[in-house]
Amino acid sequence: MRIEHTEILIIGAGPSGSVAAGLLRKQGRQVMILEREQFPRFSIGESLLPQSMACIEAAGFLQDVIEAGFQYKNGAAFVRGSRATAFDFRDKFSPGWGTTFQVQRADFDHVLAQAATKAGADIRYRHQVIAVAVDGEQPAVDVISPEGETYRVSARFLLDASGFGRTLPRLLDLETPSEFPVRGAFFTHIEDRTVPGSFDRNKILITVHPTYQDVWFWTIPFSNGRCSLGVVAELSRLEQYPGSEAERLQALVAETPSLAGLLANAVWDTPVRKLTGYAANVKSLWGKGYALLGNAGEFLDPVFSSGVTIAVKSATLAADAIAREYAGEAVDWQRDYADPLRRGVDTFRSFVESWYAGGFQDVIFHERQSPDIRRMISAILAGYAWDLNNPYVAEPRRLKTLEQLCAAG
Ligand SMILES: Cc1cc2nc3c(=O)[nH]c(=O)nc-3n(C[C@H](O)[C@H](O)[C@H](O)COP(=O)(O)OP(=O)(O)OC[C@H]3O[C@@H](n4cnc5c(N)ncnc54)[C@H](O)[C@@H]3O)c2cc1C
Repeated sequence: MRIEHTEILIIGAGPSGSVAAGLLRKQGRQVMILEREQFPRFSIGESLLPQSMACIEAAGFLQDVIEAGFQYKNGAAFVRGSRATAFDFRDKFSPGWGTTFQVQRADFDHVLAQAATKAGADIRYRHQVIAVAVDGEQPAVDVISPEGETYRVSARFLLDASGFGRTLPRLLDLETPSEFPVRGAFFTHIEDRTVPGSFDRNKILITVHPTYQDVWFWTIPFSNGRCSLGVVAELSRLEQYPGSEAERLQALVAETPSLAGLLANAVWDTPVRKLTGYAANVKSLWGKGYALLGNAGEFLDPVFSSGVTIAVKSATLAADAIAREYAGEAVDWQRDYADPLRRGVDTFRSFVESWYAGGFQDVIFHERQSPDIRRMISAILAGYAWDLNNPYVAEPRRLKTLEQLCAAG
């Protein structure tokens, strides 16, 4: 079998893979990305958080993203029954970016991957990793090329950025179940035809189902007059509705008066897709010669749009650790990569759990709110889940106390 070698090998050219490639090219490393699809290709995860902009900027991709003309985003709006609230991410506790974009991921991922190529990464589309060996001197993978040839690539370091493909977790038996119940999502793109002024296109809209507080919809406007629409619920709930995925999504929207009203003139012109059981976890985020980035590690839940932010944050932490290894420093991947990454993931985890239990919904829809606490929450919703100066990051227990205060009136 033909064998090639590279310094850094990355599996997958999604946001975590491309941003890692940009950062590592800046360090002067030789980078190869193996991507099983041809780009542009569809992906879900269209609402970014401002924290991700710092990682995109650090990778050298900011100009490319700005020039792509995506929908500007400055916050998140929430509706439950007759109550509505909106967070403006520019008004937040943590310093840093307060705005970002809502993106069609086919285009966004393509922009990042092209920027990585421009930076000197060797991206090979339609090359799929099918086997991995991490017990030798250096990690190596077996790859199938578009022509059907199998070849091997060894590397000094291997980054698994394969997202829901979860290549290393599957091949190295690293998978552990998520502690979240099995939920699913039905989603599509529509021409929304909303009445001007009825919809703040600069924000993602999260709408809670009127009967089931753990069922919610996303409406993510794009810059071309269209938007992404999806519903998330436990699988058992979704299965209660008869018909096709499109009919079920439409039935759930019809039951939700504010959303049904907003989308009354919408044109449903795109097939509805379904994803289930996407929450995932692993025993370890690293091993000898490799680390797992983004969704290849853990995926929590879509409610706070944290996926891409966690993905690109993991890329920056891993690239920093690799830089230190090349500088001859001793890197402890648990202490220097996995633990810092998990800190932010755990912040999101406590907010996700609280959302589905209803407590966080009571907090954000509460009539009397402290502006300071709102800014702290706004910072976390903007993705600043790693800022230990924020009391709700440093002490996640505080959220419980806040929930109790709100529940008490
Ligand atoms: C219903 C739902 C809604 C979501 N909404 C949002 C949102 O609004 N905002 C947000 O930030 N996140 C959202 N997410 C999460 C988001 O989709 C992911 O977190 C994000 O795409 C992760 O990026 P990544 O780079 O880790 O992986 P991916 O974007 O999945 O990229 C992985 C790449 O690896 C390639 N690959 C896979 N296996 C192989 C292989 N064996 N060989 C070679 N290449 C391979 C794939 O083709 C893919 O291109 C949502 C997720 C779900 C399920």
